[in-house]
Amino acid sequence: MPPLTRIEVDLSAIRHNVSAVKKYVGPRVEIMAVVKANAYGHGLLPVARAVLKAGGSRLAVNRLSEGVELRQAGVTAPILILGHTPASDMPQIVRHRLVPTVTEPDQLEPLDRAASRAGQLQPIHVKVDTGMGRLGVLPAEVEKFAARAAERQNLHLEGLYSHLAVADSSDADDKAYTRRQLDSFERVLTKLRQAGHQISLPHIANAAATVYFPQSRYQLVRPGLILYGLKPNHGRDLPIDVKPALSLISYVARVKKLAAGKDVSYGRTFTTSQPTTAALVPVGYGDGYHRGLSNKGQVLVGGRRAPIIGRVCMDQLVVDVTDIPGVKLEDEVVLLGSQRDGSISASDIADWMGEINYVVTTALLERIPRVYLG
Ligand SMILES: *Cc1c(COP(=O)(O)O)cnc(C)c1O
Repeated sequence: MPPLTRIEVDLSAIRHNVSAVKKYVGPRVEIMAVVKANAYGHGLLPVARAVLKAGGSRLAVNRLSEGVELRQAGVTAPILILGHTPASDMPQIVRHRLVPTVTEPDQLEPLDRAASRAGQLQPIHVKVDTGMGRLGVLPAEVEKFAARAAERQNLHLEGLYSHLAVADSSDADDKAYTRRQLDSFERVLTKLRQAGHQISLPHIANAAATVYFPQSRYQLVRPGLILYGLKPNHGRDLPIDVKPALSLISYVARVKKLAAGKDVSYGRTFTTSQPTTAALVPVGYGDGYHRGLSNKGQVLVGGRRAPIIGRVCMDQLVVDVTDIPGVKLEDEVVLLGSQRDGSISASDIADWMGEINYVVTTALLERIPRVYLG
């Protein structure tokens, strides 16, 4: 018996999504699957293995610890660290054969020294800031930085990359902004190649650009979201068919009849206006189910939507099941996913709390056991 409160991750959906992306971009484009933040809450190792099995050839994580976890589990595919790696972590990068993003001159010497000691040629990817204003060397400074990297005998400038700020948007202004970012990236790439740097792996396409900006693909795309079956833009058609992989399931831990005029949960933010059948669900913000869903969220019971009444607590929440007949102890409750004819997507939950779907799955904490299917 699986635990009653659980996250189910359908690995066959993940494999399906990887294949769908692969088919869409064609056989000459590699997929570097972004599996940072516990694979957007889906589970780092099982997702990484599923992605590689389905045709992904590289992985990207945010930090060293995530890369080390993959290596220690025996994953041998190339792994790019997308975040900043401090100089003191460079020996670990080399030891675990990870690929760091470099943007600071101070990173070069310690990395080169560690690579030299190990007798390895260490690949690096330089990140350019073409308009995200976050991590990355500014276009005007890249040539100088690449030259400094090239002076280091044990470093190999394998990749040049950048990140797009609004690739998901269908707004004309935003599309123009993305095109300017792509142009800027292309200019930097050409300049570096003309200066003699043999950059074999330029990449800039996140999930949204992979599907909406074909010119952004080069020979490598770097999607996250769509591999999990989630849409970059709720209101916009996705040209490929992806399936959500994650469900959050719990159960009815108590059914009770409340008279009219009874307060529910902390802060007395909800008062029954009529005799109400309430069901207790043992999930809360201590599981990563956000308190912002208080009096706003819905869950599925018997295939029908039941509204959350009162505040979401750390470990429990209450829903109104007055209109759903026959609800009883230990009935299944689906907080995210489908049940009979009903379904609740990560985007639905995101809308209820004024967030984006990324936040919904990534927030789900380790306390909820993950069960892998498929
Ligand atoms: C998270 C991230 C991605 C993946 O973004 P999606 O929108 O999920 O495809 C790609 N590149 C970088 C640098 C990232 O930080």
